[in-house]
Amino acid sequence: MRIPFTHSSPVIFLAIGLIVVSTAALSFVSYHYTVGRENLAETTLVQSNIKLAQQYVDRIEQRIVDNDLILDDMIDVNEPARWPEMVEAVKAADLNVDQVYILSPDSNYPLFPSYSHEIRNQWGAFRASFNVRDLDLGRLVPDQPHHLHMERPNNYFFASYFLKETREGKPILVCYQMNFDAILGLLDRRLRDLEDRFYVSIVDFENNGIYGHPISRDSKYFFERRFPTTLYKWILQIVPRNYTELELGVRNQRRTSLFFIILSMLLIFFSLAIIYIGWRHDRQLRQLKEDFISNVSHELKTPLSLIRMFSEMLVSGRVQGESKRAEYTRVIHNESERMSRLINNLLDFAGLSRGVEQKHFERVDLGSLVANAIEAYRYEAEKAGFRMELHVEPGIPDTRADRSAVTMALFNLLDNSIKYSGDRKEVEVRVERTDGDVSLAVIDKGQGIPHSEQDKIFDQFYRGSGASVHGVRGSGIGLAITRHVARMHGGSISVESEPGEGSVFTLRIPIRPAPDDPAPAGGTPEAG
Ligand code: ADP
Repeated sequence: MRIPFTHSSPVIFLAIGLIVVSTAALSFVSYHYTVGRENLAETTLVQSNIKLAQQYVDRIEQRIVDNDLILDDMIDVNEPARWPEMVEAVKAADLNVDQVYILSPDSNYPLFPSYSHEIRNQWGAFRASFNVRDLDLGRLVPDQPHHLHMERPNNYFFASYFLKETREGKPILVCYQMNFDAILGLLDRRLRDLEDRFYVSIVDFENNGIYGHPISRDSKYFFERRFPTTLYKWILQIVPRNYTELELGVRNQRRTSLFFIILSMLLIFFSLAIIYIGWRHDRQLRQLKEDFISNVSHELKTPLSLIRMFSEMLVSGRVQGESKRAEYTRVIHNESERMSRLINNLLDFAGLSRGVEQKHFERVDLGSLVANAIEAYRYEAEKAGFRMELHVEPGIPDTRADRSAVTMALFNLLDNSIKYSGDRKEVEVRVERTDGDVSLAVIDKGQGIPHSEQDKIFDQFYRGSGASVHGVRGSGIGLAITRHVARMHGGSISVESEPGEGSVFTLRIPIRPAPDDPAPAGGTPEAG
């Protein structure tokens, strides 16, 4: 299917632009999607860590509170006589208690144990941390566990206490001073299974490690949680054991996505560049073909109108004198020769394009072939004001060649030397033997060829800037055919040219003996 507007430049540029924009947009969205997905995974991970830490803190708190409730059941404030026995039972039970104090809010001494010289130091140390007068009794809920957690110079003080009321309505505080090592033991038992997957630590507000080593707060998946009501001076910290792997995994995933996004963008841009170059090439070719058709039409028109004009004059019988008639006939002859050369060129080119070519190799004396061609051409050249010189090195051996193809190639070179010579109308043709070749050089002193164009002039349809600037007519196939002639003989064509000084085109044809000839002895010239 052929869509008519696909050759128009704005449409092509618009299509390429749309592809570039949509590729960029797609890549942008994919990258953001990937990053978003990773962030979501990270957030989920962090949230599950938060939940876990919260769960463990709650469990430890619950354990302490459950412990407190058992303790509360073990002491009856209405039975002072049994207090020693009850306290002994508390200490004997595995309930983490170091000492029990039963206190009256308005006394400086404990109700139990009764104050004596032996307990003086112990009581002093207790009071230094737990002073009833510092408590806001009005805010305490009766029969509910309350906690006091404090830093001491060398350790920590932790106590659970209850506000109770005797039958007589007297307020009493029952206070359980906890054993530090027993509390650590409790933490250890409760946190052990968490340590399989996490680095776990408990620190105080100054980041001193109480349980395990403090964890750096810079770790990516670090999370910490304070104990809200019991061990409220302490903080639980956790970080996944494999957090570096997690981090590395996330980073690798991001890199891989980015790599594939960039790779596919590059591939798309690369393919677009190829499509664009192909399209431009196609467009140039179409332009060249269009120019070619118009150039060929013009080239045919000039000789045709001359032939017509002179033949009409001859037919009308108005031409006076034999010499004038002869001259007009010659013009008609030459112009028809020119036309036939042009048509031969076209036919040859058409055959060449279709891959059909006819070769008629035979034994040829290239020196005399060139001399004959020049003689046929001389009249036309000299009429155009050119001085033509021919130098043929003597003793050039015969070689197998296609006579008409070589003549056509030579005429193309001669035509060009005349077309592109400007005011310096000198053309020289040299036929020489160089190494194993016969070289036919056509030398002019004309406008020359810019260095940048010297590679391109042998391409089909290519016309140099000089040709278009100077309005010289041509079709851009002469040198392409000449190169083809050189190649079909196994030879070559080259150009040496300086702009403004002229050009030398050299056609080299290898010396090949005819099938029935012996090979020419190296360097020994044969009779021409
Ligand atoms: P054209 O029909 O344009 O002459 P050719 O294939 O014969 O096509 O030549 C290709 C181009 O090479 C020309 O358009 C011209 O620019 C350049 N050229 C060929 N021969 C000469 C020359 N002798 N001097 C300067 N330019 C030349």
